[in-house]
Amino acid sequence: MSDIEHLASLIAGASAGVAFTGAGMSTESGLSDFRSPGGLWSRHQPVYYDEFLGSREARVRYWQMRRELHQELAASKPNAGHYALARFEELGNLVGVVTQNIDGLHQEAGSRSVVELHGTSRVVACIRCGKEWPPEEVDAMLEAGDDAPDCDECGAPLKSKTISFGQPMPYDEMARATELSVGSDVYLAIGSSLVVEPAASMPRLAKQNGATLVIINNTDTPLDGMADLIVNDPIGATLRAVWEIVDPETARQCPA
Ligand SMILES: [Zn+2]
Repeated sequence: MSDIEHLASLIAGASAGVAFTGAGMSTESGLSDFRSPGGLWSRHQPVYYDEFLGSREARVRYWQMRRELHQELAASKPNAGHYALARFEELGNLVGVVTQNIDGLHQEAGSRSVVELHGTSRVVACIRCGKEWPPEEVDAMLEAGDDAPDCDECGAPLKSKTISFGQPMPYDEMARATELSVGSDVYLAIGSSLVVEPAASMPRLAKQNGATLVIINNTDTPLDGMADLIVNDPIGATLRAVWEIVDPETARQCPA
């Protein structure tokens, strides 16, 4: 049996499968891994949350980076891997996606149960009163010369609804991700080097609680030794091939 056939049989047999996704999930959608050479963080100094709160200059730097990110996001589309995971959820094999990505591509592909551990860059909000803006409107404010926009209701700074460096992980999302991981029967760790927390511990937790652990990534990970199946091939092509076995009818209609 090939790795693809093995993976297809695991997914088809799952009733509480969970996908845990990292930056590698979206590289085939045209989004660079922030950490990689040429990624956003190689060109911009990350702005820590305390700096953001304490300094207008830091907020100006923050928004310069966000504008580049918004442009990348606007040009990105879900890839076959995103669509495959959405379909596996629809078929009842997956119960959720836990993602470190902030791009919203899982939801755009149709996934409904998505836990965003690092928040979303598809919404901007006031850090005090919570009033929300679509990123395009904030981009227009930046374009018009307001280089660190404040809330028009209460005057506090606006910020993307993402988790910044120096901000704690969101409590509800972590609790939901842990619950999904513990309860999973098949755990797919996709496109993450599984080094940074909580990526390092969620798949381990799943495995320790009886899940079959599958790792799909282009490099080795520290958890390879406990995985039941490791696939080092491109994510989109791998999941598309699995989808073609699990549900050939809909796989042919994949928009990517
Ligand atoms: Zn406000």
